[in-house]
Amino acid sequence: MQKSEQLLSTHLLNTPIGAISWDLNFKTVEWNPAAENIFGYTREEVVGKHITELILPEDMKELVEGIFQNILSEKGSVHSINENITKDGRRITCDWYNTALKDVDGRSIGMASLVHDITERKQAEEALRESEERLKTILSATPDPIAIYSSQGETEYLNPAFVDVFGWTLDELKGKRIPFVPDDQKQITSEKTKELLDSDNKVQFETKRLTKHGSSIDVIISASCIKNLNGKISKLIAIIKDITDQKQAKQELKLLNLKLEHEATHDPLTGASNRRAILGRLNEELDRAKRGNLKLSIGLCDIDHFKHVNDNHGHQVGDDVLCSFVKAIQNTLRPYDLVGRYGGEEFLLVIPDLPASSGLVEERIYERVRAKIADHKMVTRSGEVSITISIGIASRRGDDTADAMIAKADAALYRAKENGRNQLAFAN
Ligand code: GH3
Ligand code: MG
Ligand code: MG
Repeated sequence: MQKSEQLLSTHLLNTPIGAISWDLNFKTVEWNPAAENIFGYTREEVVGKHITELILPEDMKELVEGIFQNILSEKGSVHSINENITKDGRRITCDWYNTALKDVDGRSIGMASLVHDITERKQAEEALRESEERLKTILSATPDPIAIYSSQGETEYLNPAFVDVFGWTLDELKGKRIPFVPDDQKQITSEKTKELLDSDNKVQFETKRLTKHGSSIDVIISASCIKNLNGKISKLIAIIKDITDQKQAKQELKLLNLKLEHEATHDPLTGASNRRAILGRLNEELDRAKRGNLKLSIGLCDIDHFKHVNDNHGHQVGDDVLCSFVKAIQNTLRPYDLVGRYGGEEFLLVIPDLPASSGLVEERIYERVRAKIADHKMVTRSGEVSITISIGIASRRGDDTADAMIAKADAALYRAKENGRNQLAFAN
């Protein structure tokens, strides 16, 4: 008996758990060092004192006394978690195991309690709960779909945005792989997953995903992993940004830019280069010809008596003739020759890369154009119309500017008109 009592009191001295006993009037009888630690009162300060005067906050007194009465009268032992107050006034949370003490005849003679200060644990639990709550709020509020997988790729969590965008619910997919990778995206997906698992850095890639209803959407996936305490990857997180609209807008913008660029450089009626564009090209060709000491020729073409076409057939038929004329001329020129609408019914031809010595090739090209137009029937809304053109031709000499060449071609054109039209005239 003595030995076991000694053993017990050694235990009670050294345990980190508070061990306290009370008599039937709730006056303290035993108070071990751990209880001193927890509550701040020494044994001497509490022995013989009523518990409610010491370690119970005002608002807990009634409740705790009720519990004690219960233990003594019927229950025998009760586990409770209470708020307590320390000697220096701190409120702490304690875990209590209270048992009635009985004598040999089974009569209650008091009560023994084991008490554990769980304030820190409670705080940690509260912090964890708060952080989970915060995470849940973020996951629910974000407009981007988020999926969390096990390290094996089985679905563990889908946020509301995921359900919205892809149409599957967590119930349908929990524990399974999400069947949303199109066949042609499987390779990049498995490469990027491998990269993620090997490097455990975040990986980001653009790809496509299928919704439950089979439509394909463009996405950017940012994937990262979570490790457990042993440093092993335990979860994969994918944040999926739906960029379908963004991509479509980009595509539309690209098309719009192409259209604007085309409009800025082309004549809306005939589709030929406009004046600004053909002059730009002429300047480029002129630079190139100067650098390579190449022959460059231009021809200013003017439709003969075009006023008569308008007068006889109407302005719209005149428009049709202009369109037909451009098509005919484009079919006659070499692929690298250029044609642009210089103004009204005047067109500028730019003929680069001619053999330096011979004027014959140059003449043949323009003559072919003239003859083609003279022979060709222009198709219009009121049937076929025939026209002829006069062409004033100038070749680059020395440091000629584009303006100088055009002035020379214009003077030659004037001569061609003077001499009876439907003919070529070369600048002097
Ligand atoms: P020529 O050049 O042989 O001396 O006689 P022309 O009748 O062609 O005389 P000019 O060059 O002075 O007149 C050009 C005419 O072309 C005047 C104008 O009404 C017409 N014209 C200019 N642009 C357009 C157009 O876009 N559509 C139509 N239908 N006619 C145009
Ligand atoms: Mg004319
Ligand atoms: Mg004219």
